[in-house]
Amino acid sequence: MRTTGLFIGGEWVDPAASFTTTDPATGDVLAACASASPADVDAAVESARRALPSWAREPAANRALLLWRLADLVEAASEELASLETRDQGQPLGVARSVSVAGAAAHLRYFAGWADKLDGAVRSVSFPETLQYDRRVPVGVCALIAPWNFPLMIMVWKLAPALACGNAVVLKPAEQTPLTTVRLVELCAEAGVPPGVVNLVTGGPSVGQALVRHPGVDKVSFTGSTEVGRSIVAAAAADLKRVTLELGGKTPTVVARDADVDTAVAGTVAGGLLNSGQVCAAYARVYVDSARRDEFADKLAKAVSTLRLGPGHASSTDLGPLVSAEHLARVTAHVRGAVAAGASLLTGGSSPDGPGHFHRPTVFADVTDDMAIAHEEIFGPVLAVLDYDDEDELLHRVNDSPYGLAAAVWTDDLRTAHRLADGIRAGAVYVNMPCVPDPAAPWGGFRASGWGREMGPYAIDAYTEVKGIWMHHG
Ligand code: NAD
Repeated sequence: MRTTGLFIGGEWVDPAASFTTTDPATGDVLAACASASPADVDAAVESARRALPSWAREPAANRALLLWRLADLVEAASEELASLETRDQGQPLGVARSVSVAGAAAHLRYFAGWADKLDGAVRSVSFPETLQYDRRVPVGVCALIAPWNFPLMIMVWKLAPALACGNAVVLKPAEQTPLTTVRLVELCAEAGVPPGVVNLVTGGPSVGQALVRHPGVDKVSFTGSTEVGRSIVAAAAADLKRVTLELGGKTPTVVARDADVDTAVAGTVAGGLLNSGQVCAAYARVYVDSARRDEFADKLAKAVSTLRLGPGHASSTDLGPLVSAEHLARVTAHVRGAVAAGASLLTGGSSPDGPGHFHRPTVFADVTDDMAIAHEEIFGPVLAVLDYDDEDELLHRVNDSPYGLAAAVWTDDLRTAHRLADGIRAGAVYVNMPCVPDPAAPWGGFRASGWGREMGPYAIDAYTEVKGIWMHHG
């Protein structure tokens, strides 16, 4: 069986203990991966601390070049990385290629472009004979903790700006899906990242906890569940580490009376079921103008029922398995709960016989606000259709959620589009399109969906401290 180690100080280290990662389409064991001990976490953080001063002083153009080289290597290994992501995470190969690997390369290139543009400014202070300017400096050692839904791409969302800004990092991928991050770290070394600048510790939640509590870590960038996000904030409060959080969501979408229903259906399938709905911004609750509700629900159920479940490597597959047996059990419990609560099951609602953690794509209609599927994050292939009559009341219902990550509106009326985009409280509102991240645009949420933003110039704020320098020359 393949084994993977820890990467500390530019060396691969064999662990004392290991855990296995499996193919969610078959249950087959793929690899035995290093389970980092507390001493390993200490060593990784110390290695990052040692590497930090010279990396932070590395000429910005060199950091840019290195990120660009890493993007080239990711692209050159794209088939291998996509195949690995599909095997470890379950996503269809087409998604792994066009979203995960292509997204990773795009983020590396975008932030390569930022490395030599981290400008400060000269300020017009009122003290005589004083020059005041500000600079952006790296935050320091950053712990980058990623979830299992887009393991490679989400790790790169963090790694690219962290390195561009001159930070040293310790990567901690999710225990369900460590393999593409292991490969990414090999590529970092091949690209010429100096020893200690990028370190890797694999393992379960306790490894993440050890990083968050570590006094040698200056910042935690976390993507994962809201519950764990809360515990990270509490732990990081001890020494007031910098924390950015990309957490859960329950993305509302609105299909207005004038909407092109066929476009809205296609967009709901694309935005709601990508990666079998294991997307933090998945279009999970759909509010349809009551005049169009039946037409929308019928067409949505018909479109969803044609989707083909299968292993991600099969060319006929539209939807792959869920990541694990535990997650399948969670999704199944949500679906049973919705049936028990009285929602109408239009299609799906069960798992096929056979190996793998598959769940049929599922559509519920007649969902009401009090039902759990209307407000709890499911993170699976389950769409809930609700209806509305009044736009003001609709806005209140849409916003009555602990989350605020993303939202979508389907309408051909500019006034409706602007009114809803303005009124919905979410980090991103998509009008007439599925949710897509882009390295140039902010990604993150209001309220329990997180703190801070990734991507665009906002990521530069997240990975730098601002230092003001005062020079008296009188
Ligand atoms: P999770 O919170 O269980 O785990 C995420 C990572 O944190 C894993 O690496 C895990 O080992 C680690 N971890 C677990 N407990 C920890 C602790 N106490 N301290 C430090 N680290 C700890 O999340 P998950 O199940 O892997 O991912 C699914 C969740 O992630 C969903 O809620 C989803 O909405 C969210 N998510 C959000 C975004 C976003 O951009 N907002 C993107 C993807 C996923």
